[in-house]
Amino acid sequence: MRLTHLSIRRFRNLESQELDLPPEGVALVGENAQGKSNFLEAIYYLETFRSFRGARDDQLIAFGEEVFRVAGRLTSPDASEPAVEVAAAFQRKGRKKKVTVDGAEPERLSDGLGRLAAVIFSPSDVAIVNEGPSERRRFLDIVLSLNVPGYLRSLQTYRQALQQRNAALKDGRSSAVVSVWDEPLVRSGAEVTAERARWIESVSEEFTGYYTEVSGGQSAVPTYKPSVDTDRPTDAGAAADAYRDGLAAVADRERRMGTTVVGPHRDEVTFAIEGDRDLDVRDYGSGGQRRTAALALRLVEASTIRAARGQEPIVLMDDVFAELDEGRSERILQLIEREETGQVILTVPKESDVKVRRDALPRWGIRDGRI
Ligand code: ATP
Ligand code: MG
Repeated sequence: MRLTHLSIRRFRNLESQELDLPPEGVALVGENAQGKSNFLEAIYYLETFRSFRGARDDQLIAFGEEVFRVAGRLTSPDASEPAVEVAAAFQRKGRKKKVTVDGAEPERLSDGLGRLAAVIFSPSDVAIVNEGPSERRRFLDIVLSLNVPGYLRSLQTYRQALQQRNAALKDGRSSAVVSVWDEPLVRSGAEVTAERARWIESVSEEFTGYYTEVSGGQSAVPTYKPSVDTDRPTDAGAAADAYRDGLAAVADRERRMGTTVVGPHRDEVTFAIEGDRDLDVRDYGSGGQRRTAALALRLVEASTIRAARGQEPIVLMDDVFAELDEGRSERILQLIEREETGQVILTVPKESDVKVRRDALPRWGIRDGRI
């Protein structure tokens, strides 16, 4: 599906406007602080109903306003499917979020997720690799919630059980009270861990392929590292057994610390470079190597969308060539150009920075939030 119309109301600094987008995409050209990233943020909001930059919803409302609204029309390129209208609005007062699909509110917000299929490439992606493990878990949770049926439900069940159990630990409740939450925690937690580990395993080879291609011959291998000792994290039963043993082993520590210390909220993903020496890219990788790992993650995310949702994702690129050397930029372009059927929406500071589909993409200018 392509985004063929976008309606923006009081979103960040963007002027309220109606835009018809070309099916092949567009290059948005504008100087710093004019609203380029805000524009991509508005589009991506229609996929996850959240900011891709991790901003809170109230920060997305234009200064001095009370509510924003974004709406998009999705059209299939060959008209094989009916067009879909997805809209999202957020009101500061009462923190009310309303999502509609074709004008009707889905029973749960999560039922509206992922109608728009897009992958966003941004210089801030490097944080997924650079920062602490919670960034990598967040990345996995978003990708899997959108592409693996049932994942979001397991995750929500886990979070609830974890919250209740942590509250009991923090209040110094008896172990009988705390352990009421052990089984719900272990079962949902094992499902979360198993799905994440399965995804990493299933994309591992492809990830390495992209990494090698972009870096021009180097290698990196992703591994899912659960917070408990198990050699079969992809198996929910084995993971559950490991969590049960893990909880028993850390019971005293949990009492002292007042919080649950094993489970998917403590799991990690590592990227080993220089294969035989198993060096973590976070500890030993150069800036370029870490950016390449982040990029390879986005590329496997795109192929996951293709496989799971049967759609060519819309490629959103927020000034991504700013920090990569020529060779890497060229090879990324080749990778993205290979899938030449999809829509590409990119932002650049200067006309001459348009490197993807140089001749095919119409140019739009942006100044002070007006496109
Ligand atoms: P750069 O090239 O530097 O990345 P950009 O064009 O991507 O610039 P944006 O991140 O889109 O810039 O931000 C444009 C402007 O939007 C910023 O100057 C910022 O102050 C403003 N802005 C951010 N949030 C809001 C808001 N809630 N209401 C109004 N303006 C906002
Ligand atoms: Mg920007």
